[in-house]
Amino acid sequence: MKTLVTGGAGYIGSHLVDRLLADGHEVVVLDDLSMGKMANIEHHLEDRRFQFIEGSVLNQPLVRETLHGCDLIFHLAAVVGIPYIIDDPLRGILTNVVGTEVVLEAADEAGCRFIFASTSEIYGKSEKVPLSEEDDRLLGSTRVSRWSYSTAKALDEHLVLAYHQKQGLPVVILRYFNSYGPRLDPQGYGSVVAKFIGQTLRGEPLTVHGDGQQTRSFTYIDDTVEGTVLAAECAEANGEVFNIGREEETTILQLAEMVKKITASSSQIIFVPYDDLYGSRFEDPRRRLPDASKAERLLGFKAQVPLTEGLKKTVAWFRGNL
Ligand code: UDP
Repeated sequence: MKTLVTGGAGYIGSHLVDRLLADGHEVVVLDDLSMGKMANIEHHLEDRRFQFIEGSVLNQPLVRETLHGCDLIFHLAAVVGIPYIIDDPLRGILTNVVGTEVVLEAADEAGCRFIFASTSEIYGKSEKVPLSEEDDRLLGSTRVSRWSYSTAKALDEHLVLAYHQKQGLPVVILRYFNSYGPRLDPQGYGSVVAKFIGQTLRGEPLTVHGDGQQTRSFTYIDDTVEGTVLAAECAEANGEVFNIGREEETTILQLAEMVKKITASSSQIIFVPYDDLYGSRFEDPRRRLPDASKAERLLGFKAQVPLTEGLKKTVAWFRGNL
């Protein structure tokens, strides 16, 4: 099967590419290398079943041409990471909305199954525990630029579902919950896990934002990829939305302590007020726990990797790559 992965040089994308090639797919990667890195995929460059095309999902003729002959597309190309979104909301909105529309239209033309990478950020600051796919979303003011990411991804989900409804395009939407693992950006802009590991390995203090009692459900990359592949293979998943995440909440302070312990670091933990980082117009989800029962029921997916084990593997990678 010929498969296109947009954003295939990125953190999740490149792990997905590894898995697809191992499973016998022919894989084309389209990536503009704005967030992705050649280092993530260069080990495949000699493989005849692999092709890399450098370019943007905003380039409509290129996307059309690239999709020609593909049966399946994983659309992961996006601007991700809240610091990036806050720094340049316009770039985030355009890439994440226009790019998805371009790829969807081309997928429809080519008649290929469309797997869309969405996010737990969709739920905004909802404090419902756990969060199910049908739940309401709760966002703050448009003056808080963080919410432009949630809004863009939600519009994408609407687009994907509209193509499914109107055009009969086979689609699946996956809402990833805080994926972490090797190949995260060592500067940590996309993930607190990378940030803390990078800080301990450089002997810097670990910067916990706010009171550190906010929670996330950290999901190891192998689980993220497994859920993605299962969703692409499952006929019953057509037209459905799934939470892909591990059903365990961890506070950010607990995470900092775990990283310190695993790296045997003597770095201090310091608390940084949100205002010092982003000014007064910032909001942060307080809790985020998925109800992953739908993915288990329909896809047979359940996240397996405990946080300590995943963190140890991630630390090992960072030690070799920082
Ligand atoms: N965070 C933190 N210190 C850092 C970076 C992030 O305490 O150096 C916090 C951040 O404010 C948020 C949580 O960690 O509450 C998760 O942040 P991340 O960017 O990893 O993911 P997201 O907020 O998109 O879920």
